[in-house]
Amino acid sequence: MRAMDAHTNDRKPDLTKCDILIDGSWQPSLEGRTIPAASPSDGEVFSYIQDSDSPDIDAAVSAARRAFEDGPWARMSATERGRLLLKSAQIVADQSEELAALEAQDTGKPMTQARNDISAAMRYLEYYGGAADKVHGETIPFLPTHGVQTIREPLGVTAHITPWNYPAQMFGRTLAPALAMGNAVVLKPAEDACMTPLRLAAILQQAGFPPGSLNVVTGAGETAGAALSRHPGIDFVSFTGSPEVGSAVQAAAAANHVACTLELGGKSPQIVFDDCNLDDAVPAIVNAIIQNSGQTCSAGSRVLVQNQAFDRIVDELAARFCKLVAAPHYEDRDLGPLISDRQLRRVHRYLDASENPDPVAQGVVASSAPPGGHYVAPTLYAPVDQALAIAHEEVFGPVLCCMPFETEEEAIRIANGTDYGLVSAVWTRDGGR
Ligand code: NAD
Repeated sequence: MRAMDAHTNDRKPDLTKCDILIDGSWQPSLEGRTIPAASPSDGEVFSYIQDSDSPDIDAAVSAARRAFEDGPWARMSATERGRLLLKSAQIVADQSEELAALEAQDTGKPMTQARNDISAAMRYLEYYGGAADKVHGETIPFLPTHGVQTIREPLGVTAHITPWNYPAQMFGRTLAPALAMGNAVVLKPAEDACMTPLRLAAILQQAGFPPGSLNVVTGAGETAGAALSRHPGIDFVSFTGSPEVGSAVQAAAAANHVACTLELGGKSPQIVFDDCNLDDAVPAIVNAIIQNSGQTCSAGSRVLVQNQAFDRIVDELAARFCKLVAAPHYEDRDLGPLISDRQLRRVHRYLDASENPDPVAQGVVASSAPPGGHYVAPTLYAPVDQALAIAHEEVFGPVLCCMPFETEEEAIRIANGTDYGLVSAVWTRDGGR
């Protein structure tokens, strides 16, 4: 696996790509401030991104408005927009190994995960490329003298604020549908990891997206992100990140009377009934919490197990947790480091709470992990009282809590006993459940 290290080092990111993209031109931020980009695997700075502010956001929103109202983007047919997305997907596929290496270096995630993420980003471009010219309105029977039809139209200038956990996937997921419909977009990726969004923007530009249709402005959330979310020139906001910032973004959008979508956190339960096939369930349950080191909004961070199966499930999970290894991205082990020192401190606040029971099992941090990286050993708790913070708050780390239940009603009550609702899984052979 060390060969991957050499591979990654062969492909140092091109620093010139860390400018921002406004109106088809790559440029530094107007005030010229930068933010260092360090790899979570070793804490070493490997590049710099622009620390943009309100004037850059103004320029990006104006460019998007011009593109939306006039110029090649405004005149492009849905079929042509779809072709550009499909062409972009092909370039992503051609450059996937290089993009995966960059994603792994920037986020610390193991190379296998980074490859999956680039593949997912590519599929978003491909899917919405195919969908672009298949968005139809309806004809509605109304009165003999009146025909009614609905027409689906772009919103206009759309703002996209994305998190650091899946930068490439988020790029594809939020921008591909907006572009397929003909919106002009302004993306503000997370300052903790935005290398692949910048590269992907360059790929879309190469595929032929015209100036102003796609603008990418990096920078801190409190400045660049806040300026974008409250900008009067935008028509829609898409936000993924923390509930606290989501509330602020929603309030800013409401002040401008524009719609927004929020994807916030989760404390997603895996509900395991005693009739399930344990051989299927256990590895999937482990993967659902260690993927991306637990920094996934849909991470399966709680396991609710029916009493009769509880000890067996916990024993099997413990046996697997003991063998888990957190290591630098280039070693491609079970999990990588957390994104930042801030995130590491957050996870430790949960792990170090005096109210916690002793862990049932813990993995290890590889001895090869550089001291500057942000590593935490995956940790399993069982049984855990639902009242404890680790059991009902989003930790956003590789921390799994097991809780027993007896009846379906009790399982549902525990599953719904958090402020979150994102995804859940049910493990049973009984389809009626
Ligand atoms: P965050 O909400 O602070 O950041 C998400 C995005 O919002 C980033 O692009 C950031 O720059 C921007 N932002 C920050 N402050 C802003 C503001 N005032 N106005 C507009 N934009 C702003 O999230 P984080 O600090 O990166 O992570 C903190 C917590 O958020 C995590 O521990 C986790 O609970 C949650 N989170 C959830 C997801 C998810 O996929 N749902 C992803 C990342 C983080």
